[in-house]
Amino acid sequence: MNQFDPARSIQDLQYFGEYGGVNPSIEDSSTFTFLAANKMEEVFDGKEQGCYLYGRHWNPMNHYLATAIAKMEGCEAGIVTASGMGAVSVTLMQLCQSGDHIVSNRMIYGGSYALMKNFLPKYHVTTSFVDITDLAAVEAAITPNTKVLYTECMSNPLLQISNIPALAALAKKYNLKLVVDNTFTPILFSPVILGADIVIHSLTKFINGTSDTIAGVVVGTQEFIHSLMDVNSGASMLLGPVMDSLRSASVLKNLHSLPVRMKQHSKNATFIAQKFAEKGIRTIYPGHESHPEHELYKRDAHMGYGYGGMIVIDMVTKEKSYQLMEAMQYANVGYLAVSLGFYKTLFSSPGRSTSSEIPEEERDAMGMTEGLVRISVGLDMDIEETWNRIEGCLAKIEEPAMA
Ligand SMILES: *Cc1c(COP(=O)(O)O)cnc(C)c1O
Repeated sequence: MNQFDPARSIQDLQYFGEYGGVNPSIEDSSTFTFLAANKMEEVFDGKEQGCYLYGRHWNPMNHYLATAIAKMEGCEAGIVTASGMGAVSVTLMQLCQSGDHIVSNRMIYGGSYALMKNFLPKYHVTTSFVDITDLAAVEAAITPNTKVLYTECMSNPLLQISNIPALAALAKKYNLKLVVDNTFTPILFSPVILGADIVIHSLTKFINGTSDTIAGVVVGTQEFIHSLMDVNSGASMLLGPVMDSLRSASVLKNLHSLPVRMKQHSKNATFIAQKFAEKGIRTIYPGHESHPEHELYKRDAHMGYGYGGMIVIDMVTKEKSYQLMEAMQYANVGYLAVSLGFYKTLFSSPGRSTSSEIPEEERDAMGMTEGLVRISVGLDMDIEETWNRIEGCLAKIEEPAMA
């Protein structure tokens, strides 16, 4: 598995600006001129590829960023979108038509869950939500109308790891497209190399890493990306979630430090997760042997980058989780905010925020209890000092009940 190196793939890109700049030039134009009128006709007809027409279709900077992430994921092509949800929605709307069916991991980002549960049924696209670690349940949910198998490589918020090779085998057997949201684990996992057909990211999180932009990306085969951009039938072209070139340029510059950042996030999270566990607080972290997919992680991930920057701890009650988060913000451990992948540590209560779209009884069934705190561990250079602050916060609130 470790032959393919996503970091090397981005390191080796050579993008020059118009005047030899070491960064590509930003094309600040919504429309492009043609020297010959018949050429424009050919582009509209889809007969001519590779030249620029109109900014919603393609613009050079979006092309650079999409290609860079496609390379990082080991695939042929990509498109960038104005948000991660834009990437999820155009992909599913391109792959499915009225009457089609999706089998999805039940433990996914709340917005993706709500899209499949509440929105797509308006267009007669229905979804069965299953426990993705139960491969027999996944297979049993597949019907003759199923077109897509959907999961997150590391799922929000319980950090469950999907068995991509096994899901890819099922997708192949039933002729489905395996779509994987890799937002929590860029660089750590290469789902396409493991057999997935399409990978999605919310660039808003680790990939951009500066919490200043909402953005997304879809990568896959050239054929699929062309279908999304088709002027007559492409979901991205027609629904129009285009990213601005200035934003693409800033995300591309941040992409270059992603491998270094992921290593540091992993290093810090490993330290903090160990400390929480030593305190007797139930801690979910893929680096721990107690994590149900610990062995699977070691088998499928690029282990040089560690176990990722996300930790979940169980403070048992909602009150204690709220007290801890407020205390940690006061002690400047980080910020009480949703999202992830920032230089500063971010923490939130998933049940009441990013997973609140999932009904309470379903959250309970998945073990998404109300005392959980999701922590995106920052890039702190002195993580021991950060832990001392967290320890001070834990001492201030009531002793957390042993779980
Ligand atoms: C944040 C997130 C999304 C949605 O991305 P936006 O950029 O906020 O639209 C999708 N999937 C996962 C796993 C996420 O964390």
